[in-house]
Amino acid sequence: MQELLLKDPVFAMASSQFDRVADFLELTPDIRQRCKWPKRVISVSVPVKMDDGTTKVFPAYRVQHHLSRGPVKGGLRYHPKVNVGEVAALAMWMNWKCALLGLPFGGGKGGVTCDPREMSVGERERLTRRFTTEMIPFIGTQIDVMAPDVGTDSQTMAWMVDTYSTHLGHLEPGIVTGKPVNLQGSEGRTEATGHGVAFLAAQALEKLGIRADTATAVVQGFGNVGSFAAKVLDRYGVKVLAVSDVSGAVCNDAGLDIFELEKHVIATGGVAGFEGGNSCDPQAMLEMECDILAPAALERVITKENAGKLRCKILAEAANGPTTPEADAIIEARGDIFVIPDILCNAGGVTVSYFEWVQSLQHFFWGGREVMEKLETMLAEAFRKVVRFGEKHDVPMRVAALGLGISEVAKTKETRGLFP
Ligand code: NAD
Repeated sequence: MQELLLKDPVFAMASSQFDRVADFLELTPDIRQRCKWPKRVISVSVPVKMDDGTTKVFPAYRVQHHLSRGPVKGGLRYHPKVNVGEVAALAMWMNWKCALLGLPFGGGKGGVTCDPREMSVGERERLTRRFTTEMIPFIGTQIDVMAPDVGTDSQTMAWMVDTYSTHLGHLEPGIVTGKPVNLQGSEGRTEATGHGVAFLAAQALEKLGIRADTATAVVQGFGNVGSFAAKVLDRYGVKVLAVSDVSGAVCNDAGLDIFELEKHVIATGGVAGFEGGNSCDPQAMLEMECDILAPAALERVITKENAGKLRCKILAEAANGPTTPEADAIIEARGDIFVIPDILCNAGGVTVSYFEWVQSLQHFFWGGREVMEKLETMLAEAFRKVVRFGEKHDVPMRVAALGLGISEVAKTKETRGLFP
């Protein structure tokens, strides 16, 4: 399994990041091995009756990186390119992210290889219900708690709650997070990741001495994370110059009207054709001059081809794994871009997921303002911790963030010891 995972470029990337940080932390060989490899890699086939009467079998995976610090936590992705290596990499990053934020979770990730945009609502519902059923032996509120990711949303989570609860015979809302508020979801969860991205980008602006109301941003991806990041940046006074999604890219030097853009996306399904801006090349958009570049779509978009051409001051990694290690080396050598690494930058989502899990288990619910205040307090503290660690050890922000997360997991493993 280890060799198979290493063949995937996304897992190879997570693995090389881990090796670099494990060297820096001087982890002993035994702890290093125990931290690096996933505890469980679950692969299932999910048969679904399609609307045309045929049956399609979708490959699906759930990777539970570690359970040492608590149940695993992580999203469920529906995308045509999902494969086991990518899912294992995302689970590994979730592990370090939860540890960095001090959340009592291990990292997990799931994915189904499918194209949700080509499927009807009914097909997506049947897929979700059957996937949840296949997962029943492996999940639980103290074992594995899923959440939305690319291609899934609060409705997907609602179907999972219903399927799991029907199996148990009573409502178990704590089995997932990111569910609708009327099904005991948390206030603030939907916007949490994008809100956190914008909040941390504002912290970085402050550190660089740039006023938010003079700053500019470019956002790749206008789904859950990208759209909320753009809206909150806009609220801070940052001018959003360009936004892309799978349909294309739009830009406006005077700043896009994000709320009008959102209406357009709801009406047409994508940013392409938005009248409040000009269409532009999605790849060239990444190289536009701006203060904040926020890749909020998929992994491996900042590569050795474009890293040298970026003209941003802050790279806010809203997506997981958007920067390849080769690009990282170029950015480090340039030394003129402040990187907010993914495991910090998008941690707002799992932090509010933690709040939601706590509320679901206690059946005691918090107001939206309380959620956002607690979120900002935790993110600001994590940001300070990473900056301080980086400055103290003279290492880049990514090594600092991963170093803090990985050493936390290593300490837990050492303290618990090895059974038997
Ligand atoms: P989403 O499915 O809601 O949105 C993804 C967006 O990316 C869509 O707008 C899509 O059109 C766009 N996109 C896809 N391919 C693209 C391409 N080639 N170029 C430009 N845009 C493209 O997904 P999301 O939940 O917003 O997740 C985005 C990223 O954030 C992922 O890396 C995910 O793992 C990460 N993330 C999400 C959460 C969360 O709470 N949803 C939390 C942490 C991290």
